[in-house]
Amino acid sequence: MPIKTPAKKSLGAALKRRARKPAKELAAGKRSLPKALQAARAVKGKAKALDAVGIRVIFQRLHDANPEPKGELDYVNQYTLLVAVVLSAQTTDTGVNKATGPLFAVADTPQKMLALGEDKVRDYIKSIGLYRTKAKNVIALSEQLLANSGGEIPRSREELEKLPGVGRKTANVVLNIAFGEETFAVDTHLFRLANRLRIAPGKTPLEVELGLEKCVPKEFRRHAHHWLILHGRYICKAVKPECEKCVLAELCTSGDKRI
Ligand code: SF4
Repeated sequence: MPIKTPAKKSLGAALKRRARKPAKELAAGKRSLPKALQAARAVKGKAKALDAVGIRVIFQRLHDANPEPKGELDYVNQYTLLVAVVLSAQTTDTGVNKATGPLFAVADTPQKMLALGEDKVRDYIKSIGLYRTKAKNVIALSEQLLANSGGEIPRSREELEKLPGVGRKTANVVLNIAFGEETFAVDTHLFRLANRLRIAPGKTPLEVELGLEKCVPKEFRRHAHHWLILHGRYICKAVKPECEKCVLAELCTSGDKRI
C-alpha cells in the first residue's frame, strides 16, 4: 500500500504557520526568550539564516542599548552629508571629519565648493586616501547637482547613483540619514555582522542588503544599519571581537565567538 505524503504546498504553509507561532507568543509575553528560541529552532532545524525570533531579539537589544543611534560623520546640511559620505570610502569617519571640518567651514554648498576649485579641495582633503580622485568627484558632483536640481540633493537612489563617486552604499546612507528612508548601507561592518550573526547571510553586499530588507522587523528598519555598523566598529570587530561585552552573545553561533 503506497504511503501518502502531504502536498508540498500545504506542508510548506503548515511549517510557516508553526514557525510564526513562537515569535507571536514572544511578542504577547506568553513565552520567555529561551523557550521561544528553542521552539523556533525546533521548527526550522538547521536553517542557514537566524529565525525571526532571534532577529527580533537582536534588534531589540541593540535598540535598548542605544535607542537613537547616530552616524559618526560630521556634516552641516544634506550637501555636506553627501560630500562626507563620498569622502569616507575606504577611510575612517574620524579621518574624514578631520579634513571636512575646515573644508565645510569655507564650502558648505555646491556653489561655494565650485568657487573653491579642485586644487584647493584637494589640499583640504589630502590626508584622506584616494584624495585626488575624491576631489575630482566632489567638484563634478557639485557641478551636476547645480545643473540638474539647482543644488538640491535628490531623494532617489537612481538619481543619487548618477552622481560621480556615488555608489549604492553611499546613496543608501544619504537616503537613510538625510531623508529617513529605511535603507541598509552595507559596508564592511554590516557585511561581517549579517554573516556572523546569520541575520542575512550573503556572499556579496547586495545579497546581504536584500536579505536585510526581507528580514528586519518594520520598527527597527530606520536605525538597523547604524546599530550594526556601531556594533561592528566597537564590539564585533573583524579581528578579536570583544565578545565578553557583547549584548548579542547569547544569540551568536559564529565560529569567531571568543567566549
Ligand atoms: S559574541 Fe562575539 S562574534 Fe558574536 S556577535 Fe558578539 S562580538 Fe560578535
